[in-house]
Amino acid sequence: MAGLVVIPDPAATPARLDALAEALGRFGFDVHRTGAVPVVLAATGVAADFDVRHIKVLDDVQDVVRITSPYKFAARTWHPADTVVDVDGLAVGGGELVVMAGPCSVEGVDQIETSAAAVAASGARVLRGGAFKPRSSPYSFQGMGEEGLQIMRAAADRWDLKVVTEVMSESQVEVVGRYAHVFQIGARNMQNFPLLQEVGRAGLPVLLKRGMSATIEEWLMSAEYVLAEGNPDVILCERGIRTFETATRNTLDLSAVPVVKQLSHLPIIVDPSHGVGIRDKVAPMAMAAVACGADGLMIETHPNPPEALSDGPQSLYLDAFAELMDGVRQLAGVVGRSVPEGAVAEAA
Ligand code: PEP
Ligand code: MN
Repeated sequence: MAGLVVIPDPAATPARLDALAEALGRFGFDVHRTGAVPVVLAATGVAADFDVRHIKVLDDVQDVVRITSPYKFAARTWHPADTVVDVDGLAVGGGELVVMAGPCSVEGVDQIETSAAAVAASGARVLRGGAFKPRSSPYSFQGMGEEGLQIMRAAADRWDLKVVTEVMSESQVEVVGRYAHVFQIGARNMQNFPLLQEVGRAGLPVLLKRGMSATIEEWLMSAEYVLAEGNPDVILCERGIRTFETATRNTLDLSAVPVVKQLSHLPIIVDPSHGVGIRDKVAPMAMAAVACGADGLMIETHPNPPEALSDGPQSLYLDAFAELMDGVRQLAGVVGRSVPEGAVAEAA
């Protein structure tokens, strides 16, 4: 079964769009209407040999694109140019590498202020940090909740950083949305479809981590859930998958970067921190991610990793992060990218 994306004439009135959707339905297709403007109609359940000329001749049809993948809006066939996601004025997926850095968990004012100042000074543009943490054990630190969001947003604003933070459930979307610039969907929630639909409707960009046992196709189908709600701003994040290998926490699948670039127009960043789980392996894999075409990085840092309440063993010391950023800046030039200069201390 294939799918069709039908682009209506922009001048079509709502009533004429209804008529077009009905006409498509008469072919036996399931018709989905995106909330995006301009409205497009996606038809699924289309036989592989269906002749699209039947659709091209319908009233108010501007164009029809046949898509054979199980995802449509995420496919490069549907959108040949790279998508650049606008994060409150910050472009993700353009020529500039976007580095998102900060602690695994927001732990307190001093920790997050020190982190924000340091990562901004090194050229990161987005502050990461979890306030609602998906911990494997219910007895581990669960995060500071809304107070954590407040202090993270305040620290980020001081340094003109954007905030990316995880939202774990539909019921958290409203509160997280008040402080975040980007909703992070964690690996464990990649196939939480109602959550994906909710962030698809919430009006902020979404960073969609790859599930730890998800194929690339499943990952793109999850992106499709967000896109199909009319939210075009999805950033993919490769963070390692489970394999038989135990020497690293996960197996960082860097081959996903060029594969996704071919299959999809969405930007993709790499999180080597969760990918390898071991501090001294983070920098080499971050460099490798830039070399293979990632649009950015997500790196866990901590002012004092041995004391971190989560993921200390994979968190970079702040001086090591600064050193990594120097290397990334040099390599970026080689691969036709750039990294912004760090914020100067007086800018606070
Ligand atoms: C995190 O970013 O801290 C996190 C929990 O990541 P993941 O969902 O990739 O495990
Ligand atoms: Mn973490």
